[in-house]
Amino acid sequence: MDNMHLFSAPVNMDADGALKLLEAVGLPMETASVIAVKVDFTKPCPMCLPAICDALREKGCLAFLADTAPGYGDALKALWYAGSNGYDRAGAPCVLADGVKGTDYELIPARGVKLLRSAKFGRAILDADAILSVTELTVDEGGYCGVIHDLGYGCASRAGKTEVQTSGKPVVDASKCIGCKQCTTVCEHGGARMDPDTNKATIFPPKCSGCMRCMRICPTGAIHPNFDVSDAAVQSKIAEYAKALCDARPHAHIMMAAGNVYACADPVQLDQVCAEALGIPKSFTAGIEHLLTLREG
Ligand code: SF4
Ligand code: SF4
Repeated sequence: MDNMHLFSAPVNMDADGALKLLEAVGLPMETASVIAVKVDFTKPCPMCLPAICDALREKGCLAFLADTAPGYGDALKALWYAGSNGYDRAGAPCVLADGVKGTDYELIPARGVKLLRSAKFGRAILDADAILSVTELTVDEGGYCGVIHDLGYGCASRAGKTEVQTSGKPVVDASKCIGCKQCTTVCEHGGARMDPDTNKATIFPPKCSGCMRCMRICPTGAIHPNFDVSDAAVQSKIAEYAKALCDARPHAHIMMAAGNVYACADPVQLDQVCAEALGIPKSFTAGIEHLLTLREG
């Protein structure tokens, strides 16, 4: 593979070193431009982040550290994590990009992909003039979490996270259904139907648009997202989210792996090089493979 555009630096680099790295990967840094520095508030603040913030400030950029609400539960938890993990001392303000309830998102088109037509990202990230992802590579039972995951899942709003993790259409837990028919009444597509034999609701996938209105109206919580989706399908959808984001805004990427900082303008190349160097099995990197296949065309 052509690695000509992959750069590295020590994790304890200073602001000058960080600036060289950002210039090398072509991050646009015009004076007063707003840069969303995507980080993961749930992980410890990377050692190199203060140098990156200093470098952006020296260039006159208006940088902020961005993460999004977790998929479930209290959205504000992410900001508590930011404080306890040291991001509030990194040199740029911390922002919850999809708002305090995880509902503030913008829909953008997903072009040149196979599984999605659009993607939902935290609005503050799309308000930025450019995106710089700063990712700490992790590999665990949840899979390979590199740049593509940080962009496609980490920048997605709560609705976007649900979209990539599920089949996009709900299912009914018959044991909780009381047969009230509120779901069939609210459904405008004929996707929610009553089974005349059991008087329980069911979802008819060919008609269901995935709007989730039935889920919100159900008084017993019988309707829920369908998480019965393969890991490969989830990774591929996350990868398509990442592509949509990179198509929408100028971007550059920094990843900490094996005690070094690596930087690249191309998230796919950066993930691929790190995954190969660490010998990550292909079953963990379906998102990378999916984007490479899309590129081949
Ligand atoms: S709204 Fe809920 S409880 Fe009522 S029929 Fe539909 S699934 Fe059953
Ligand atoms: S998700 Fe929307 S379209 Fe699908 S069954 Fe529920 S209300 Fe109908």
